[in-house]
Amino acid sequence: MSSAAPTNIAGQKHALPSYLNADNLGPWGIYLQQVDRVTPYLGSLARWVETLKRPKRAMIVDVPIELDNGTIAHYEGYRVQHNLSRGPGKGGVRFHQDVTLSEVMALSAWMSVKNAAVNVPYGGAKGGIRVDPRTLSHAELERLTRRYTSEINIIIGPSKDIPAPDVNTNAQVMAWMMDTYSMNSGSTATGVVTGKPISLGGSLGRHEATGRGVFVVGSEAARNIGLEIKGARVAVQGFGNVGAVAAKLFHEAGAKVVAVQDHRVSLYNPAGLDVPAMMEYASHSGTIDGFQAEVISSEQFWQVDCDILIPAALEGQITAKNAPQIQAKLVIEGANGPTTPEADDILRERNILVAPDVIANAGGVTVSYFEWVQDFSSFFWTEEEINDRLVRIMQEAFRAIWQVAQDNKVTLRTAAFIVACSRILQAREMRGLYP
Ligand code: NAD
Repeated sequence: MSSAAPTNIAGQKHALPSYLNADNLGPWGIYLQQVDRVTPYLGSLARWVETLKRPKRAMIVDVPIELDNGTIAHYEGYRVQHNLSRGPGKGGVRFHQDVTLSEVMALSAWMSVKNAAVNVPYGGAKGGIRVDPRTLSHAELERLTRRYTSEINIIIGPSKDIPAPDVNTNAQVMAWMMDTYSMNSGSTATGVVTGKPISLGGSLGRHEATGRGVFVVGSEAARNIGLEIKGARVAVQGFGNVGAVAAKLFHEAGAKVVAVQDHRVSLYNPAGLDVPAMMEYASHSGTIDGFQAEVISSEQFWQVDCDILIPAALEGQITAKNAPQIQAKLVIEGANGPTTPEADDILRERNILVAPDVIANAGGVTVSYFEWVQDFSSFFWTEEEINDRLVRIMQEAFRAIWQVAQDNKVTLRTAAFIVACSRILQAREMRGLYP
């Protein structure tokens, strides 16, 4: 991760919003470097590129709640709308003890890029609360979610900004958010969040959508480099919504999932782990720790002999330190921002293909888009229709990005940024500046 304010291609320091610490930019610094890499390919639209280097709106809120023991606790919450040129904001809400403004800003910017890369009509946004939700009771979590939703109520809405689940948030949290927003606005507003329970206007297929998209993009990328999924050895970091579903789909397609890591443990079986049994185990225990398999160290996890590596936990996991040891031929980014720019360079030099987050994990937001459309029309599609449309959108988006990468001799990440940033800045240019 960058420790100082990055410079742009002209060697100048980035103009930073005053609320960021230039010496500790965190994930936002990574995102700025990615924008710099794409700028030379934007042609006349480069004139607008500064638009991408600052969020349109960043809200920090105090979230006080009464704990079950009668004391009052305060948590810091955020909602950042990075860019709304192409439509309302869209992006998840994360509950994690390490959430920072810089992180939420970067995640919101990656949502702008992702939504444009798959061409769904949204801008980019993201939210979060700096809290370890495992320390809260169910009732405390509900109070936290409802107070946070009330605090950000003025900037969200079905046509303004539509939150969704992310790390440590789920359909129940979305139901509380939808109910709180509806109570504040005086009418039932199902379209204010996606990733809701099916009984509240959620979409079939949403729960599996991100993992399914990882599988679809991974299969396309594998085919392009002559790698057979059947028999391929796969390692997965993160066994939550994204990682577990992706592992399951690769397993079902005949791949061998040889290693899985979560926040507690790394497990290994060269003959292939029993993924369905592991999912069953994790659904009860909240971790894969204790599941019957060989335990390896975190360092060994990154060195595992495999064909495909799927980081599906948090950002900044593949670094200059572990990238030289990775054995895979293909990295599919299920997580957002899992690879640092330095690691990206190392993987490219080592001829390891990276299917970048902004396309590889876009399946979730694509089905979120379907959910939002279904809520507006109050007409619900079958799971088959949803999965068919998801596969079609993901394949088309990936193939277009692959072609741009070939034409410009750039990585898939830069190609995805070329496609996405051009769409965002074209919209910006057509709308013009107000007033
Ligand atoms: P989740 O909370 O369901 O699961 C996270 C998993 O990561 C858990 O298994 C956890 O144990 C593991 N983990 C956490 N910290 C770790 C660490 N330090 N080392 C190893 N493992 C660790 O979250 P999720 O929804 O699966 O999201 C995972 C990633 O995918 C995040 O980067 C998220 O932004 C991204 N993403 C999620 C969605 C979605 O629809 N849920 C969509 C797009 C991108």
